[in-house]
Amino acid sequence: MRRTTGRNFLFVPGPTNIPDRVQRAMLVAMEDHRSSKFPDLSTSVLSDLKRVFKTNAGEVFIFPSSGTGAWEAALTNTLSPGDKILASRFGQFSHLWINMAQRLDFDVQVLDVEWGEGVPLEQVEEILRADKKYQIRGILACHNETATGVTSDIGGLRKAMDAASHPALLLVDAVSSLASIDFRMEEWRVDLAVSGSQKGLMLPAGLGILAVSPKALEAMQSATSRRCYFDLADMISANQMGYFPYTPSLPMLYGLREALDIIFEEGLDDIFSRHHYFAEGVRAAVTEGWGLKLCAKAPKWYSDTVSAIMVPEGINGAHVIDVAFRRYNLALGAGLSKVAGKLFRIGHLGDLNELMLMGAIAGAEMAMLDIGMDIVPGSGVAAASNYWRSNDPIPKRKVSKEEQFYEAHSTGSVQ
Ligand SMILES: *Cc1c(COP(=O)(O)O)cnc(C)c1O
Repeated sequence: MRRTTGRNFLFVPGPTNIPDRVQRAMLVAMEDHRSSKFPDLSTSVLSDLKRVFKTNAGEVFIFPSSGTGAWEAALTNTLSPGDKILASRFGQFSHLWINMAQRLDFDVQVLDVEWGEGVPLEQVEEILRADKKYQIRGILACHNETATGVTSDIGGLRKAMDAASHPALLLVDAVSSLASIDFRMEEWRVDLAVSGSQKGLMLPAGLGILAVSPKALEAMQSATSRRCYFDLADMISANQMGYFPYTPSLPMLYGLREALDIIFEEGLDDIFSRHHYFAEGVRAAVTEGWGLKLCAKAPKWYSDTVSAIMVPEGINGAHVIDVAFRRYNLALGAGLSKVAGKLFRIGHLGDLNELMLMGAIAGAEMAMLDIGMDIVPGSGVAAASNYWRSNDPIPKRKVSKEEQFYEAHSTGSVQ
């Protein structure tokens, strides 16, 4: 019989674990979403989301959808059928966004890149330089490809666009990076940034979140793609008064309010450092401990929110995932499409700590041993332990002489 004691260990890269505080904040009685009190909630979450995207001039919108809905909103509100789009494909999520753009009748120029790498900056720059008539209207980039554990350099992509003096809109999928890997909408002049609630924002799925630059808002005026449910014009006029054009999900908005409080209490920079520190421990387990390879081809592509772990030839990654789930109540991420069976993934984003991740590492290790993989028992746990024990989640900041004195006295180590 299946055991039901203890927690399910959820280590897919989304949905992520929800903090108890968020869970409790969502247990609310329903309210009138047209009351005079409601705008307090909606305007506070919308303006705080701007801080998470790091934009002042942009606007943030919340749709009752998953992240995929925000993709559609980004495309249809700012582009017209037949418009040329440049996009690189290196995993299931970058693929799906391209597929959507094609189904919405855009003319997509696809750069196929080996899975395990990210946006090829030089190639993009070359193509943009050659596009003298500025026929390319939009550039799609997946900041963090969740299927392969690859992070692309969006600041570098902006530099490539600037080097070619190209005016296309920059559309970025930040679903599995926002609030976990540094994302700078304003500095990188991202025009449309897409996200969702169930990754770094530590909520259930159900909110599609879209941040829009002033330039993209202007592009909306001439974009002729058909749009209705995702029409930003309706959203903008309702949001101005603090309302939504349709019934919003109250528990999700209260959960978001709490999640944003938690995020600002920790601080974005510390959140990014913590994700890097957790990721490094997992990578130590994979490479030093188990002697396995990541799907990401080089350290510059390593994702701090998800690791895609290649299994050796002759082993089915799905088998590892199945045993981990059935025997140890551990949910690992699957290999998707082209990499199905070739890898399994450990998500390390959201509400986490070292020992939770130790559970995922230990469980993956046990499942790999169970199916006969040649792994040294305890090797992944030992490598992660070595890393976490000898590193700090937040890199030590320089402290002044006075602070050192104060700290020494307050811990009683100096008499
Ligand atoms: C999760 C995810 C999405 C969107 O998925 P939804 O299931 O629609 O929320 C899009 N892109 C990336 C990179 C993702 O990780």
